[in-house]
Amino acid sequence: MSTEIAWFRHDLRLADNPLLAFPTPPEQLLCVYVLDASWLESALPGLAARRVGPARLQFLWQSLIELRGELLKRGSDLLVRIDDPVTVVADLAERHAATRVRVRHDAGCDEDEAVATLAARLEGRCEVVRTDGGMLFDASSLPTGVADLPTSFSAFRRRAEKASQVPESGPAPVTLPPWPREAARGLPPLHEVSPEAAGWQPDPRGRFRFAGGEAAGRARLDHYLWDTAAVARYKQTRNGLVGADFSTRLSPWLAHGCLSARQVHDAVRAWENRHGGNDSTYWLVFELLWRDYFHWAAHQEGRSLFGARPLPDAGASFAAWRQGRTGMPLVDAAMRELAATGWLSNRARQNAASFLVRDLGGDWRLGAAWFEHCLVDHDVASNWGNWRYLAGVGRDARPRALDVQDQAGRYDPDGTYAALWASAVAAHGEAP
Ligand SMILES: Cc1cc2nc3c(=O)[nH]c(=O)nc-3n(C[C@H](O)[C@H](O)[C@H](O)COP(=O)(O)OP(=O)(O)OC[C@H]3O[C@@H](n4cnc5c(N)ncnc54)[C@H](O)[C@@H]3O)c2cc1C
Repeated sequence: MSTEIAWFRHDLRLADNPLLAFPTPPEQLLCVYVLDASWLESALPGLAARRVGPARLQFLWQSLIELRGELLKRGSDLLVRIDDPVTVVADLAERHAATRVRVRHDAGCDEDEAVATLAARLEGRCEVVRTDGGMLFDASSLPTGVADLPTSFSAFRRRAEKASQVPESGPAPVTLPPWPREAARGLPPLHEVSPEAAGWQPDPRGRFRFAGGEAAGRARLDHYLWDTAAVARYKQTRNGLVGADFSTRLSPWLAHGCLSARQVHDAVRAWENRHGGNDSTYWLVFELLWRDYFHWAAHQEGRSLFGARPLPDAGASFAAWRQGRTGMPLVDAAMRELAATGWLSNRARQNAASFLVRDLGGDWRLGAAWFEHCLVDHDVASNWGNWRYLAGVGRDARPRALDVQDQAGRYDPDGTYAALWASAVAAHGEAP
C-alpha cells in the first residue's frame, strides 16, 4: 500500500496547490502541518518577542481549521503538531512507511534547511519532493534562472512582462486518497496553544478584521474586484493610510497561502475582460511581480537575506520606535497601528522602516524582526527583502530611506492618520 505525506507550510489551500496535484495518486495520503515550537518559545536574539505574534497565530489557526474542513470533505484529513517540523515529518514517514513526502519549495533558509535535513534523514527509504506554487511564476516559467535573477526589480519586471505568460491557476481536487488507518489526526484548540492568540482582537480603528482561510480570502478578492470595483481606482488610492479599501488587503491570505498569486492574477484578468483594464489593474499585477521578485531573490540569497549575525541589543531609541513614542506623529501612528491590528499599509510600513534606519540610526534587522512578530501577513521574503531594500543593503544597494516629514505632508496632510492612533496603547507583547 503506497502512502505519501503532504507537508503543508505556507500553502494552506486546496485550489491551485501543486502539493495536491499528484502525477499518480498514492493509495493513502497523510496531510500534516507542524508549527515550529521555537516560534512560540524562543525570543529573537536582541529582541524579546516571539517570532509569531498573536494576530498571525490566530489567522494561522483559522486557516488550518478551514483547511482541515476542506480536506475532510474530500476524504482526507489534517494533522497539526507543535514541535520540531523535521522530527515530526520524519517520524510520520517512518511510522507509516511513506514512499514520498511532498513539500513546497518555500523561500527562507530555515525552510530550505529543514527540507534538506529531512531528505538526508529519510535517504534511500522515502523520496522528498519539492513542489513550486503560490507565486505568479514557478522555477520553470520564470523569465530568468534563479541564479541569474537581475539585481534590480525593474530589470526583472521588464523581462517578466516581455517574455513570460503567467500560467493559469488550477482547480481544487474533487477527491483525495484516504487517510492511513491508525494515523493521528486533528489539531489542538488555539486557547491551549496560546490564550493570547485565542483572545486577540484587532483595534476597531483599523476598520478591518482579517479571518484566515481560503473562503475568506476569495470573499475579499470578490469584494475588491466584483462587489465594489475598488480595483478600478487602486493606483490612485493605494498609498492611503485610513480605511478598508484603499488597497486590496490580500496580503495575509497570500502570505499563508490561502490564496495563490495566480488566483489573484486570473481574477484581475477576468475583471479586465469584463470592464476593461486600466493603470490600476496593471499596477496590482505590478505589485504581485514585486512579491515574486522578493520570493525568488530570497531563494538566491539564502542566509545572507538576514544580514550578518549577531544582532545588536535593542537600545532606547529602538524601544521608543517600537512603542510608537518617537515624537514623529506619522511613525508613532504606524507603530501603534501595527501593534494594535497586526497590519499596516505599504506607505506606513515604508515610513516606519525609513525612520528607524535613517533618522534613528537603528539596525534594520531589529526592525524586520519586530515586524515579523507583529504582522498578520508576515512573509519571510517580502518582509526581510523590503527592509533590506529600504535600508539600502544587499542586492540592489542604493540609499532609499524617505524624508518622513515630507511624506507626512504628502500622505497625511491634515494629520487624520496621526490623530486616529495618537491615543492607542503602545506596543503589546513582551517588553525588551
Ligand atoms: C518594511 C516592509 C515590510 C513588509 N513586510 C511584508 C510582509 O511581511 N508580508 C507582505 O506580504 N508584504 C510585506 N510588505 C509589502 C507591502 O507593504 C504589503 O504587501 C502590503 O502593504 C499589503 O497590503 P495589501 O495586500 O493591501 O497590498 P496591495 O497594495 O493591495 O498589493 C497587492 C499584493 O501585492 C503584494 N505586494 C504589494 N507591495 C509589495 C511589496 N512592496 N513587496 C512585496 N509584495 C508586495 C502583496 O502580496 C499584496 O497583498 C512590506 C513592505 C515594507 C516596506
